[in-house]
Amino acid sequence: MNINSIKGYIEKTWDDSVIPALKECIKIPALSPIFNKEWESSGLLLEITTLARNWCLDLGLKNTNIQIINNKNRTPALLIEVGAYQTTDTDSILIYGHLDKQPESVGWDENKGPWTPVIEDDKLYGRGGADDCYAVFMAMTAIKALQTNDIPHKKCVLLIETAEESGSFDLEHYLDTYQDAFAQTGLIICLDSGCKDFERLWLTTSLRGAVVGQLKIQILKENIHSGNSGMVASSFRILRQLLDRIEDAKTGEIRIEEFHTQIPTHRLEQIKKTEKLLKQAAADAIPLVQGARLAYENPFEQIISYTWKPALSYTAIEGMPSFSQAGNVIRPTTNILLSLRIPPNLNPENAVKKLKTVLENEPPYGARVSLENLGYLPGWDMPQMPLWLDEKIGQAATDFFNHPLAYSGEGGSIPFMSLLAKKFPKAHFMVTGILGPRSNAHGPNEFIHIPYAKKLTCAISQIIRA
Ligand SMILES: [Zn+2]
Repeated sequence: MNINSIKGYIEKTWDDSVIPALKECIKIPALSPIFNKEWESSGLLLEITTLARNWCLDLGLKNTNIQIINNKNRTPALLIEVGAYQTTDTDSILIYGHLDKQPESVGWDENKGPWTPVIEDDKLYGRGGADDCYAVFMAMTAIKALQTNDIPHKKCVLLIETAEESGSFDLEHYLDTYQDAFAQTGLIICLDSGCKDFERLWLTTSLRGAVVGQLKIQILKENIHSGNSGMVASSFRILRQLLDRIEDAKTGEIRIEEFHTQIPTHRLEQIKKTEKLLKQAAADAIPLVQGARLAYENPFEQIISYTWKPALSYTAIEGMPSFSQAGNVIRPTTNILLSLRIPPNLNPENAVKKLKTVLENEPPYGARVSLENLGYLPGWDMPQMPLWLDEKIGQAATDFFNHPLAYSGEGGSIPFMSLLAKKFPKAHFMVTGILGPRSNAHGPNEFIHIPYAKKLTCAISQIIRA
């Protein structure tokens, strides 16, 4: 196999065709349904799906069926079946991506914006480019590179949805309704994850789950003069007491034993192997202010802390006015939105129940305390990968990245992974992606690292070869 001709084809296709198409994708504010209640009448999800469909049609892959699934009251999806090429291998590969986007966010650089594609220093900026519009273009380009070079490949089925950022609520419906297309799935490639640097091919080995809920505390019927302070506990102080039940404020350790898990030995070994690579990666990835440091000095502890340990974030607060609106009062309520990340293999339903009991039991000062609107995202731990696949991916890593394959857990969640694991119990998984240091998928200045995306396309082409 001629590595250079694959590489040459893929780099040229990215420059001539993929980047222009991704620029058009970035211009479409195709917010995920939960961020745009008018998603159906606005037609933006269908518009971006149609754009991708037309691009795929123009690519002219052999023996390929491309269709938009647009069922009533469902988000649209793109289903592409590319028949096996020059092989009788019946095993097929399911490739996942999504085209819906997170909201705009704030803090974009002056010359950039969510819906304005800008290329700077080999990076394509704009909302939704790296999360996750590139996936369909990358997968199709990888397949086309093989056909162009007359290299056999397995059957590939692409399922590109438009509700991922809303919890993939239609995914199970697509998988069930079009199950014939997925019947022979032996490998699932999920192109919606991250990489810890832009030097190596990274495989995501685990994802944490999450439990979210609104903690509401009420002590008074209405605002009262803060001259009464001391006699009445503030709802904020009650909040602090309740949070102390869960989190050690000094160390960030989660105090509830049920939220912890035994880390599998093979994962610990993997972490030890990549510890050195990740030390630099962590320092590069987190935009700390001058003089600040991470919660752990030791790289091993750092990795464990965001991949296998539970951790609490406070993502919104209500019941407090802004500085300019504040009076000298004791406020009646403090409500806070909690997001508890949980280890990959922890049962999220049990975690929800436990969190509710711990917070609502015996409220301080008899205050009204409730944990409401609870939800959860399941975690995922990659099943053991067979040696042949590990070697195939490893070969692609050395061929195109000049480094051995690297492994890493992710601290976030990809909710549909547990659904795919359930639907395809015998399939193997390759979870990877282009969200690297500062790619900022849900924040400002989201970007695609173009050279990395090209290399990953080359690697994907090798993995789908027959
Ligand atoms: Zn995504």
